[in-house]
Amino acid sequence: MIEFAVKCPHCKKEAWVGVDDPRFYKKGMLICKNCMHAERITHRQRYNAIVKRNCDECGKRIEIIIPNQREKVVKITLPCPTCGTTRTYEPTHEVITHRYNELKPAHDPIFHLPLWLQANVKGNVFWAYNRKHLQEIKRYVNAKLRERTTSIGMTMVERLPQFIKEAKNREALLKTIERLERK
Ligand SMILES: [Zn+2]
Ligand SMILES: [Zn+2]
Repeated sequence: MIEFAVKCPHCKKEAWVGVDDPRFYKKGMLICKNCMHAERITHRQRYNAIVKRNCDECGKRIEIIIPNQREKVVKITLPCPTCGTTRTYEPTHEVITHRYNELKPAHDPIFHLPLWLQANVKGNVFWAYNRKHLQEIKRYVNAKLRERTTSIGMTMVERLPQFIKEAKNREALLKTIERLERK
């Protein structure tokens, strides 16, 4: 399970985005326990139905796109724009996902909503995916502050932005983390 704490697009409070397996972001869900808003990322998918071929009567090019359909279009009957001959075609489809696109500064990878746990630390964007991730970062920063060796997984540490690893930022980071814990 991959989880993200995000800002709810409706009530602007803390909401949850999750998916069982990171390879299947298209199964992602958004749930807000504050306003009960819930949706699947598939609800935000639309199809462009596309017919691109040559007319079998006059040979001229036919290029038609029917945008933003909720369902796939099985068949389209339409006249050739050049000679008017009407034929029924099976269109191909292009999937488009209308994400929220609130990309700044840090967002979840599925709905593109702002992460709930983010703050500015000395000009850097500090963020955590969720509260568990926030605790891991806190343990890391605390351990570094006391110069203890840490049991935190190295992969997590390697992925951290450089400013989190810098000694001069540790006090400010801890203050920010504690503020986010209460958020
Ligand atoms: Zn909400
Ligand atoms: Zn034609």
